[in-house]
Amino acid sequence: MKITWLGQGGFLLESGKYRLAVDPYLSDCVFKKERLARLHPFPLAISDLKPDLVLVTHDHMDHLDPEGIPLIRAAYPDCRYAGPQRSYEHFLRLGIPEASVTLVPMDATLSFGPFRVTSVFAAHSDPTGCGYLLEAEGKRIYLSGDTNYDGRLLNERTKGMDLMLICINGKLNNMNCADALKCVRSQKPKRALPMHIGLFAENTADPAPFVAGCRAAGVDSFAMIPGKEFEL
Ligand SMILES: [Zn+2]
Repeated sequence: MKITWLGQGGFLLESGKYRLAVDPYLSDCVFKKERLARLHPFPLAISDLKPDLVLVTHDHMDHLDPEGIPLIRAAYPDCRYAGPQRSYEHFLRLGIPEASVTLVPMDATLSFGPFRVTSVFAAHSDPTGCGYLLEAEGKRIYLSGDTNYDGRLLNERTKGMDLMLICINGKLNNMNCADALKCVRSQKPKRALPMHIGLFAENTADPAPFVAGCRAAGVDSFAMIPGKEFEL
């Protein structure tokens, strides 16, 4: 499986020809509303994104991008969209036809192309927000989404993953580096990568202490570069 960090909480996962985009924040709409400017551009041209599915964790602008989604819709009329309740409703308000949108209830497992997608608990300010277990090619990924530290994150289902993608920015109802390292030490993934950093100067964190903490716990880690693909 090929994985590309799209910045913030966004990822492109490729299995065979199938392309799953999670939480792509393409536009600069957070700047218009909150005066938070992007520190780097979206790392792919829309013409290179080619998503079969846009899956979102929750209905905040840096995850369900109300200016970016219509651009994807215009470029890729066959793309599908999926997310939990508030996100589902937001996709419909953006004019995506109901037939192209899938509601992902909490704790549901759904199949999209080669991917099995399971929504899992997250503790965030969108009460319908979730994290995801993403499985394909025999590999298992836990993507935290935006979430505070909460004991309910640490369950059997999120244990022993091939990859944990975890927020470390420590602001606005998200875990900080120490919280995320508690999850790593408890759940013992093979590799853990820090995310939800680097996009806004006001809401970022240094990935180095997280990477060092993972390595000290025997877990592979590195600081991702937006747009630079890696293999799982
Ligand atoms: Zn966020």
